[in-house]
Amino acid sequence: MTAVPSHCPYCALQCATTLHPADRPGAVEVQPRDFPTNKGGLCRKGWTAPEVLTVPDRLTTPLVRDAAGELVPASWDEALDFVADRIRALQAEHGNDAVAVFGGGGLTNEKAYALGKFARVALKSANVDYNGRFCMSSAAAATNRAFGIDRGLPFPLADLAGAGAVLLVGSNIAETMPPAVAHLQGARDTGGLLVVDPRRSATATLTEDGAGIHLQATPGTDLALVLALTHVVLQEGLADTAYLQERTDDPDALFRSTASWWPERAERVTGVPAATIRRAARALAAAAPVHGGAGAFILTGRGAEQHSKGTDTVTACINLALALGLPGRLGNGYGCITGQGNGQGGREHGQKADQLPGYRSISDPAAREYVAGVWGVDPSSLPGPGKSAVELINSLGMPGGPKALLVHGSNLLVSAPRLASVRERLGSLDLLVVADVVPSETALLADVVFPVTQWAEEEGTMTSLEGRVIRRRAAIKPPGDVRSDLAVFAGLASRLGCETGFPTDPAEVFEELRLASKGGKADYAGITWDRIDSGEALFWPVPAEGHPGTPRLFADAFSTPDGRAHVVPVDHRPVADDLNAAAPIYLVTGRLLQHYQSGAQTRRVLELAEAEPEVFVEIHPRVAAQLGISDGRPVQLRTTRGSMVLPARVTADVRPDTVFVPFHWGGAGAVNELTNDALDPVSRMPEFKACAVEVTAASLP
Ligand code: SF4
Repeated sequence: MTAVPSHCPYCALQCATTLHPADRPGAVEVQPRDFPTNKGGLCRKGWTAPEVLTVPDRLTTPLVRDAAGELVPASWDEALDFVADRIRALQAEHGNDAVAVFGGGGLTNEKAYALGKFARVALKSANVDYNGRFCMSSAAAATNRAFGIDRGLPFPLADLAGAGAVLLVGSNIAETMPPAVAHLQGARDTGGLLVVDPRRSATATLTEDGAGIHLQATPGTDLALVLALTHVVLQEGLADTAYLQERTDDPDALFRSTASWWPERAERVTGVPAATIRRAARALAAAAPVHGGAGAFILTGRGAEQHSKGTDTVTACINLALALGLPGRLGNGYGCITGQGNGQGGREHGQKADQLPGYRSISDPAAREYVAGVWGVDPSSLPGPGKSAVELINSLGMPGGPKALLVHGSNLLVSAPRLASVRERLGSLDLLVVADVVPSETALLADVVFPVTQWAEEEGTMTSLEGRVIRRRAAIKPPGDVRSDLAVFAGLASRLGCETGFPTDPAEVFEELRLASKGGKADYAGITWDRIDSGEALFWPVPAEGHPGTPRLFADAFSTPDGRAHVVPVDHRPVADDLNAAAPIYLVTGRLLQHYQSGAQTRRVLELAEAEPEVFVEIHPRVAAQLGISDGRPVQLRTTRGSMVLPARVTADVRPDTVFVPFHWGGAGAVNELTNDALDPVSRMPEFKACAVEVTAASLP
């Protein structure tokens, strides 16, 4: 095997790598490759990613649960026949929507596209959604309503390098995507790195020694804080009024919606001193083009988005960016730091409950007609919008709800909120099918498990957080009887008598995807594997093969019908499960450098598991002393949804009113046993990031 250029399998930065043959079967070695996003860097997860290819419990053959309740090896034909028979019977008895599909933001574009098509065409079921609903859906909803389009970063990440200020709201990139920190250097050099986070996270520490400001807001109050920043900008005459008049639809709404958010009021809500709010607003404004600054960016992450008001919090950030005249200006802008590896592409090709390929609405008659034409089916045969992820999960096994669920690329029993309910709903199904690379917590509950290919074993494309379409390349053959998810869709579709083709060659699927996306918002029509392979940097939309791609959006107009950015007035509201006498502390969940998402892969990597072997709770020294808790001692956390016991890490990095728990573990270490599934009314994002918790000293179980 020769060296193969590829990308890291994990986060949306998609660091470039070169894969080299290793001396063990099925193994590769990885070297970082220079690329604009990672500048030759890799984090610890990327360096150790090859280990996941050969973990001892890698799934290598289909498994079917036998009469004794054990998952036992089966042939692909046996497993596919079994699943197809059950689907046929359940749909005959309960209707097409009785079978649901759940996808993932780590699937390649080709798999994500085929999954949505499989649900709508082969199953004819409306019930399809994916775990991106837990990730960046609030930012997607907010940017769609403000800009008329959703591309995580509507500019190349490298644009950040020249900025004089970067406001990061709820994004801990120093742990989640460390190579991206290099792009913050310009802002740090001028003291313009502004980080909003209730923890002194690794990213917040980058503001120290004069590099910027850490705004350590009370959990769930980012929206109030951003309203106050905007208030200062508007009241102190720092706004770009010409831009607001020319490029937005309702500048007055901006003034009205922030008028009452003077910094002293925001201080009472957020805990951030009014003087600090003013200082941060002035630093951000000074870097804006209207003041001749070097450029300013506002970026959001899960900390801002995973709330029952996440869409409005992102909207407030967009409004602040509009007040300063940032979106559409070179070297300035608003963007969302997408999390999952294909979090961007995964939401463009029809995995979402309400969307068809090309980021088209499934409720739009013209979109239905066009996509149905590509698929060779009658538009009237396509189902309408389905339930969002949490609503879908909550309906499983219920009267009128799905009786079967097919899960691809998602580990719901770690990553979904209010896990006791998730476990109960999954357990009530007549059929649970999971396609995965390892026996995840969810796979272990399944009736049938399909072993599928992973990054270094497959061809395909991913779309990075910048909207850049990149190639994933096969460097080795998969082990055992492992096949692509595409083979699952094809095998089931043919057994279900579906006359529409489901290719198993990802190159063929991509050609179909190009056609299906043509004319949509996320238009891939002009992207070919050959163009990517030749080194072209292709940012969607790319409407034709001669088109160079669109690295920067909104230079001349926004994607709204009137070409202007829409100002949506928003206001602060408390978290859904707010503090009370019984639960007087906020529980905040988040990520660690060593682990990725549900941890199904990284917990199996020896080096990463040794570095962070178990879940823990960060607790402030003052609270720990009051409760008689010392470092390493057991702490009980209890919410109205469940309780868990875990060791303490006593640290002043968290606020006294906050405890922090990483969410990468399952079983007794799964903090999502405690989290709230209250939903954002627009994005349907659950409120992972803040809920009231009772904290007490405990004995280890
Ligand atoms: Fe890069 Fe993200 Fe992979 Fe780390 S996990 S190497 S930051 S793509």
